[in-house]
Amino acid sequence: MKKIRIIATGGTIAGTADSAADTSDYQAGSLGIEEIIQSVPGISSCAELSAEQLCNIDSRDMTENLLLRLSKRVIALIGQEGTDGIVITHGTDTMEETAFFLHLTVPAGKPVVLTGSMRPATALSADGPMNLLNAVRTAASPDAAGRGVLITMNDSIEGAVDATKKNTTSLDAFCSPNRGSLGMIRDGVPVFFAERSSGIPDDRQLMRTETECEGKKRKRDPGMFSLEGIKKLPTVYILYGNTCADGAMVRAAVRAGAEGIVYAGTGNGSVHQEDERELLRAAESGIPVVVSSRTGSGPVTAHVRGGSQSGIISSGFLNPQKARILLQLCLTETKNPEIIGRVFSRY
Ligand code: ASP
Repeated sequence: MKKIRIIATGGTIAGTADSAADTSDYQAGSLGIEEIIQSVPGISSCAELSAEQLCNIDSRDMTENLLLRLSKRVIALIGQEGTDGIVITHGTDTMEETAFFLHLTVPAGKPVVLTGSMRPATALSADGPMNLLNAVRTAASPDAAGRGVLITMNDSIEGAVDATKKNTTSLDAFCSPNRGSLGMIRDGVPVFFAERSSGIPDDRQLMRTETECEGKKRKRDPGMFSLEGIKKLPTVYILYGNTCADGAMVRAAVRAGAEGIVYAGTGNGSVHQEDERELLRAAESGIPVVVSSRTGSGPVTAHVRGGSQSGIISSGFLNPQKARILLQLCLTETKNPEIIGRVFSRY
């Protein structure tokens, strides 16, 4: 049997409510991982399980410190002989950000699968037990390695680059709007829709090459971005585009000490002229600016008025919250917008 390590962080999968009918009024992060495992019939026959509790929070409260600790722990487990795969239980609200952060910072060797639930553990028809069982089965599947960090929810397998939470309450809360799901779990068997080689290229390897051209000699973890020696990530704010903008939020972000800005444009990187003026000013002053989109899918191909010389970077297919993670990690290596732009162009 494969040896699977579960790292628990909290979320609704660890949530409890007063009544079995309560599906949105509950306390996330209440149960310990051992109690959750015990609620899943047959799980111990799928893999040799062991578990640890990193924290027990509602994922809206995820902190940088926890992200760094989680990533370092996963890197350690991947390098360890007694572990074949890793499952992380996590709240669904920010699962896509944690998954993408791990995708960019941990090495590719062993499956890393995040899961959670939309209903608390005390609900009738709670989805957590099946989601956890599916995550363990996916992490134990020889087919899951080399596909990047994965998310399994509601019988589906999504990749960390594209997966996003699309619904506030439905059990079918995740999708991959640009690349599509990577697979599904059918009668307990993870089935991937494409061979690895014809699937997503190993973006992490490609991007290492880009950022290493800066000539940093820092000792690297085997992941795309090294967290070696990093205690705090650069400050990157997301600003949300809207009609009648006046540039005030951009000025506020700069005053608050933004080291990078992600702007969720109204369409294909569309930015109101008042905000645009301030963004160009920020970019000129050396603060890298990435323009993404608030639409939820599709690439950002358009540059702001001023063209590619403006120093503004397009997010590609990355949504604002993922663009923020990537910009933070890029900023640990370089402030050069050209290099950062090349990294984003991979997405
Ligand atoms: N607020 C919860 C969390 O993200 C929602 C969930 O887990 O589904 O922790």
